[in-house]
Amino acid sequence: MKDSLLKYWKKINLIKDKRLIEAFKKIKREDFILEKDVKRAYGDYPLDIDYGQTISQPSTVMIMTESLELKEGNKVLEVGTGSGYQAAIIAELIGKTGKVYTTEIVNELVAFAKENLKKAKIKNVEIIKKDGSSGLKKFAPYDKIILTAACAKIPDVLIKQLNDPGILVAPVGPLYMQEMIKLIKKSGTIERINLGNFVFVPLKGEFGYS
Ligand code: SAH
Repeated sequence: MKDSLLKYWKKINLIKDKRLIEAFKKIKREDFILEKDVKRAYGDYPLDIDYGQTISQPSTVMIMTESLELKEGNKVLEVGTGSGYQAAIIAELIGKTGKVYTTEIVNELVAFAKENLKKAKIKNVEIIKKDGSSGLKKFAPYDKIILTAACAKIPDVLIKQLNDPGILVAPVGPLYMQEMIKLIKKSGTIERINLGNFVFVPLKGEFGYS
């Protein structure tokens, strides 16, 4: 299953960064899903992780990760830890000198992700239980920011917490479908690129859907 997904990505030329392929091979998605779904670990679809939440489909994780243009030593903020899988893939690409701060609003998922990251022996991820729609001021600015829950508008406070230069990626739009926006901050300017349509679970909290 893992191999057929890799073959498919090669065929459609989805991933250009070879290090991302290596990270996908190394990190076991099985470690981040519910026991009952282990056989479906490498199907290209999201899976339930309880509490009404999902682990994103592998292709989506790849597209979002690649769009961040991750470098060794990057400091990254994730909003929506969920299973911890996306954070683990990022952690692998930024190496030991890099750090992922990831925020999660559901208590039980904080515990779930902690356990999963431990199984996968990932050490450079810190999970913070909080409403991440307002970011995480304590460790700002971040070289990269990723939202893995849909928002109606990218919260200004998150753009403020992005380094210059920096990249933020987020699914933006109405609840039923969003555009994946890659926001690039450079020399005081902001550019937005649309990477296509996706469907995510909604962002909760202060700057989530009202
Ligand atoms: N990145 C995850 C998938 C995320 S699903 C993975 O790799 O598995 C979206 C997650 O965002 C859910 O776990 C949800 O509880 C969380 N979430 C929603 N609103 C949030 C908020 N305001 N702050 C932090 N987490 C939030």
